[in-house]
Amino acid sequence: MSENSEVREVVIVGSGPAGYTAAIYASRAQLNPIIYEGSVTAGGALMNTTEVENFPGFVDAVMGPDLMDNMRKQAKRFGAELITDDIVEMDLSGEIKVLKDGSGNTVKAKAVILATGSAYREIGLENEKRLSGHGVSWCATCDGFFFRGQTIAVVGGGDSAVEEATFLTRFADKVILIHRRDSLRASKIMAERAASNPKIEILWNSEVIDVLGADKVSGLKIKNTLDGSESTLDVTGLFVAIGHIPRSELLVGKIDLDDEGYIKVEGRSTRTSVKGVFACGDVVDHTYRQAITAAGSGCAAALDAEKFLSGH
Ligand code: NAP
Repeated sequence: MSENSEVREVVIVGSGPAGYTAAIYASRAQLNPIIYEGSVTAGGALMNTTEVENFPGFVDAVMGPDLMDNMRKQAKRFGAELITDDIVEMDLSGEIKVLKDGSGNTVKAKAVILATGSAYREIGLENEKRLSGHGVSWCATCDGFFFRGQTIAVVGGGDSAVEEATFLTRFADKVILIHRRDSLRASKIMAERAASNPKIEILWNSEVIDVLGADKVSGLKIKNTLDGSESTLDVTGLFVAIGHIPRSELLVGKIDLDDEGYIKVEGRSTRTSVKGVFACGDVVDHTYRQAITAAGSGCAAALDAEKFLSGH
């Protein structure tokens, strides 16, 4: 545990494409940034994905974890200090911002870049929580292997759900995609890929209202959203892919957030309601949420912070 009296130019909270890109730009601007990558979430959401086919510059796709590792190394190469820990407390009110990490160390800075990303959304069922790790998962790439030869379900209708369902067909005999409406939100190319996969079956207009099983998942209780009828689905696994929520819990009451908890920024900039504090990536963006847009906003945050510091 230490109290560091040194005041850094900029501290970046959170990794992923936004945090690492901010670190690359800030270190190249000689701001000597320190980046708190997170203790278990270092690298962000892309660490749980497989092939990223739409990040420009990679003709034949790139694995999500490899892309993050490259960005991390690139930031390090220009001198960013990387710390694999969480920030657990922030005082952003003064001209000098004071942040405390998970080991009890304090770091001070003139500018802070928030790139804390988002967390998996839960359905909100009691048994979903109880059976988490016992058949309920939020990460197909982490847990798919355990469902070899089984019949499992994925809930959600966006790109994540379709991507997870498609990936899971490598292991499972059958994947039932459960969606609450009658059309997918996912992009056309991904939806078509799922529709043409013989191992994927789509259960339309359906909601998961309970997860069944004593100590591991044995089935799901399903409600039809059109007529309200209820039925049971025999599956041994449930992958939840229904979107994300911004990781802004540490900022409540300290910075302006919108109704859903996303950090508000001024116009096209990354400036938050607090002077010297900038935000980028998924914790700001509920519209685009792509690796490339997160990286772009990380770049903007570093440029905004640099401008702020030069006039300081
Ligand atoms: P999303 O696009 O927000 O989709 C969430 C899905 O979950 C929607 O279909 C939604 O239903 C459903 N849903 C939300 N709350 C629910 C609940 N309580 N119960 C049941 N269903 C619920 O989230 P995402 O799929 O995680 O994607 C997030 C972003 O990342 C998107 O911009 C996506 O394009 C991007 N992404 C891209 C790729 C890729 O290009 N390779 C891969 C993954 C993600 P409704 O449709 O009815 O609202």
